[in-house]
Amino acid sequence: MAIMRVPSSTQTFQPVLERIADEIGRTPGRGRAADYIPALAACDPRSFGMAVAELDGTVYGVGDWREPFSTQSITKVFTLALDLAREGDELWEHVGREPSGNPFNSLVQLEYENGIPRNPFINAGALVVTDRLQTRTGDAAGELLAFLRAESGEPSLDFDHEIAASESAHGDRNAALAHFMASYGNIDNPVPDLLDQYFRQCSIRASCADLALATGFLARHGVRADGSRLLTRSQAKQVNAVMLTCGTYDAAGDFAYRVGLPGKSGVGGGIIAVVPGRCTLCVWSPGLDERGNSVAGVAALDRFTTLTGLSVF
Ligand code: GLN
Repeated sequence: MAIMRVPSSTQTFQPVLERIADEIGRTPGRGRAADYIPALAACDPRSFGMAVAELDGTVYGVGDWREPFSTQSITKVFTLALDLAREGDELWEHVGREPSGNPFNSLVQLEYENGIPRNPFINAGALVVTDRLQTRTGDAAGELLAFLRAESGEPSLDFDHEIAASESAHGDRNAALAHFMASYGNIDNPVPDLLDQYFRQCSIRASCADLALATGFLARHGVRADGSRLLTRSQAKQVNAVMLTCGTYDAAGDFAYRVGLPGKSGVGGGIIAVVPGRCTLCVWSPGLDERGNSVAGVAALDRFTTLTGLSVF
C-alpha cells in the first residue's frame, strides 16, 4: 500500500483525515461509553472527531472535531508538564515512570511499593502530581484551565460541574487511593481538597481541535504557542516517553505497537498523540474497550500512522 503524501506548505492533512473518518464510519462495534461516572454514560458512542495541528497552529479536522467532550485523564499530561516545569526532577522521587501493567484505577501495587505510584498517568500517580501542583500554585485545576485556554486560543474552555459532581459522588476508589498514599506521607494537601481539584481537572470539556493545539508544546520540544518555553527539550522528551510507555494504561504496549506515537487516553473517549517535531493529534469517540481506551480512537490513530508513515519509528 502506498503511503499518502503528507503536507508540505501547499498540501493538507485533510484527505487522510477524511479517508480515516470514512473507514471508521463503516466499522461496526465501537465499544461502550464509560458508565462508572454516570454523567459520561449518556454520550453517543457513534460520535467521532479527529484533528491534526501543525506546529504553527494550523488545524485540520473531520467529523465532530469541534465538539467539546470530557477530557478526563488526558489532563494528566498537562498537569505533569505544569508541575515538572516548576519542580523539576524532585517530582520523580514521589512518582515513578514505569508502566504499571494494571488498570488505571488499580490499588494493588501501591502497598508493596510504599505509596509511590508507578507512573503519573494512572490515577494514583496523577493524584500525586495534582497534589504537588496544588502545593505550588494554590489552584492546580485553575492553572490547568488557564494553560489549556491559552494554548488552544479558546477562552471559553471550562469545567463541567455536572461531571465533576457526578465523579465526586462516585469517587470512592480515587478517595481510597489518595488516603492510602497520604498514609505513606506522599500527599501534602487534605484529601478532600485534593479530590476536589482532581475531579474538576478531569471534568474540563474541550474539543479535538482545542486539545490538538494544547498538546503542541510537546511536538515543539517544550515551547508554548506564544514562543515561550514551558519545558526544557529534555523534559519534553521525558513527558513524550512516559506517554508512549504509560499513556494508555495496561494497553500501552499494544498502543505503541499499533500507533507508534506518544499518546494519552481518557475515559471520555479522547486520545491525544504527538509526532515530535511535526504535528499533534486528537481523536474522540466515546465507545471504550475494556481497558478504558477509545476503540475508534485507537483504530483511527493506527490508520493515521499507517497511511502517512508519521510515527516515531
Ligand atoms: N476521572 C477519571 C477517574 O479518575 C479519569 C480516568 C480516565 O480517564 N482513565 O477515574
